[in-house]
Amino acid sequence: MSGRKPAVGEAPFADRLLAWFDVHGRRTLPWQSPRSAYRVWLSEVMLQQTQVATVIPYFERFVARFPDFRSLAAADVDEVLALWAGLGYYARGRNLHAAAKQVGSLHRGEMPNDLEAVQALPGVGRSTAAAILAQAFGARHAILDGNVKRVLARHAAVAGWPGTPKVAEQLWAIAERLLPATRLADYTQAIMDLGATLCTARAPACARCPVAADCIAHREERVGAFPSPKPARARPYRRATLLLVENAQGAILIERRPPTGIWGGLWSLPVAAEGESADQLLRQRHGIRVEPLDTLPAFRHAFTHFELELTPLVCALIDDERPDELRERPDQRWLTISARSDDAFTGIGLPAPVLGFLSRRYALNALTDTSTPDPCPAPSTASSSGRKPKASRVLPSPATSASGSTSRSRRKPGPTGSRTRPD
Ligand code: SF4
Repeated sequence: MSGRKPAVGEAPFADRLLAWFDVHGRRTLPWQSPRSAYRVWLSEVMLQQTQVATVIPYFERFVARFPDFRSLAAADVDEVLALWAGLGYYARGRNLHAAAKQVGSLHRGEMPNDLEAVQALPGVGRSTAAAILAQAFGARHAILDGNVKRVLARHAAVAGWPGTPKVAEQLWAIAERLLPATRLADYTQAIMDLGATLCTARAPACARCPVAADCIAHREERVGAFPSPKPARARPYRRATLLLVENAQGAILIERRPPTGIWGGLWSLPVAAEGESADQLLRQRHGIRVEPLDTLPAFRHAFTHFELELTPLVCALIDDERPDELRERPDQRWLTISARSDDAFTGIGLPAPVLGFLSRRYALNALTDTSTPDPCPAPSTASSSGRKPKASRVLPSPATSASGSTSRSRRKPGPTGSRTRPD
């Protein structure tokens, strides 16, 4: 049993938690009513590393456009990623699309009611699969997301970082033992709510906690000691060049990134790795030649495993004897931004730091704002337990120009950007 054994006359852990949930729990979330396996699955995938309040508007837009597995499976992945942009962790968006196709091809468009089959869907791990089955079908499976790990580690005073297999095994065993015989959907939501609203990482409200009576960490006044933090490890630092290629009409070159790696499958300005020649990259990948005009102040972006410093390089498109190479291709677009507003970037899932850079640079021309930008904005990090978004912009519909010009382009670059807006 987690914590000490309940005293005689004291209700079991699950009963106390459910009684608290009936009064204080979150029972009006959009995926709870109407409740379906599709909506529960979608919400659970969106909630991985992201807070409920952030997820709700994304969820509502998503189900309005894709109400079921069939419509999602039939969609273009670009449209899925554009609706996902802002939730971060874009692999989740791609997995979502792939999982919908798999449900269609292997399960006749219905979520299987079997833990192994659900876990076999792309992007679905053991805890997510259990949460889907418990909430969609009332199945008796334990969950162990970041919030639940924190609650159980404190309640039973489990030492060690939950990321290690030995500690995770202990926590899974506790989670299984605490399961009630009935009301599995409510219990699953209740234990997630307890972690999200009372047993929080920084300010646990033990005085109001329904399971405080047998919580060991609380009794021993060692709540801050659990769960043990991840052992510190230096995050590697990388540098790259962000290539802003402008043609004579003021359109800029964007390309679709490879499906794997950072920003996989999203549209972005071309990125040259450290030591990679921008000229060679653009010639090989896009068949164009450019002339570098201006290097802009670098800015940083934090990924889970490394930190990236991006230095924007403004380049002018120069004459090319191979105009056919400049035509529209599936993996490249020339984006018209003459309106100098975000509307020009519509319909494309752009990574937040790239969108932030473009917004600062081009909003400046329209707004003649002369304030100084932060050349190295604070990195956006995601907390494993805090469900934080990595990016936050959705761009509703595309606007691209005709192909790049073959005439010599020497547009004077604008100032280096000044208007920092949320991205
Ligand atoms: S008593 Fe405090 S530490 Fe223990 S489970 Fe409740 S909120 Fe968490």
